[in-house]
Amino acid sequence: MSAVLAAPVPVVGPRLAVDLDAVAANTRLFADRTPGALMAVVKADGFGHGAAAVARTALAHGAAWLGVTSLAEALALRAEGLTAPVLSWLNPVDADYTAAVGARVDVAVPSRAHLEAVTRAGIGARVHLHLDTGMARDGAPPAEWGALCRDARRAERAGLLRVVGVMGHLGCADDPADPANAAGRAAFDHGLATARATGLRPPLRHLAATAATLTDPASLHTMTRVGAGLVGIDPSGTTRLHPALTLTAPVVGVRRVAAGTAVGYGRTWTASRPTTLALLPLGYADGLPRATSGRAEVLLRGRRCRLVGRVSMDQVVVDAGDERVRPGEVATVFGAGRHGEPTTAEWAVWADTIEHEIVTGIGARVSRTASS
Ligand SMILES: *Cc1c(COP(=O)(O)O)cnc(C)c1O
Repeated sequence: MSAVLAAPVPVVGPRLAVDLDAVAANTRLFADRTPGALMAVVKADGFGHGAAAVARTALAHGAAWLGVTSLAEALALRAEGLTAPVLSWLNPVDADYTAAVGARVDVAVPSRAHLEAVTRAGIGARVHLHLDTGMARDGAPPAEWGALCRDARRAERAGLLRVVGVMGHLGCADDPADPANAAGRAAFDHGLATARATGLRPPLRHLAATAATLTDPASLHTMTRVGAGLVGIDPSGTTRLHPALTLTAPVVGVRRVAAGTAVGYGRTWTASRPTTLALLPLGYADGLPRATSGRAEVLLRGRRCRLVGRVSMDQVVVDAGDERVRPGEVATVFGAGRHGEPTTAEWAVWADTIEHEIVTGIGARVSRTASS
């Protein structure tokens, strides 16, 4: 009862298609909502969508700046030929700030030790002082802020660097009602006043990211840093954006099994009726979270089919019921949802996580294509 059909020839493997028109439309929406400059945040390979492609698209549709975490990401954008202003905001004290100056990459400075390292790197650094506005994470603690501003002003007066920006970040902007938002805004305003009192006049003052830009106009200063929103993710759940990823995989094997057949590691699922199982060559190494085992669905032959058994490293088994699936047919793992396929938002629910983790987690062996 378990005749196995193998694919006759190697078919195209799992594929991630990036819709740059969606990125363009999202960028225009954010540019419209931003009174100041829009920074396109393309860290983590453009949230898994391709940093250079997302950067080019965003710059062509209203963004003026690029933002990334590491200096390596910033230098990679330069190597791709992107000449727009770039800010890198998370680096160790001993990062190569000379390379940053040479490549005209702005750097965020979250501590006096970082400031000293940047100052030593040579004349001409452009820095954004980074204040912790309530996350106890990557900005300077408020207690050190005054000293950091004074040191920075001294270095600026000595002609060693320019303080062109001050930045903060809100940790609860996905929930506009959270009182931490007002507290974060107030902390930022206070930090700006302190900077001003030391003589600094940074033209770029930026606090809001995607959620705050959509829900909290009071958080908008002279620039906003938007990442998730450009690729169609709205953490605040208030705005219809355009998802930009479609993940597909070919069926590489089909088998008809009897009731009582157990599937996969641990034999965690057993067929309660005769059914057809389809094998897809994608697993947790490719970004399908193991936590979605037995919960997630894909679209196959126009129908939602559930994953059964455990997600393996390289493969998943789909219960296709009585569909006459053939090897080589293509399943849609997720997409924009227009044809009944699951969305990354559904995958996030199945994995008990956020969409960001799904889109940034697609593995390197999935081939990428971009279209606009
Ligand atoms: C990732 C990040 C952003 C972008 O946030 P989104 O919510 O994805 O728009 C902005 N600022 C900082 C400091 C970040 O780490």
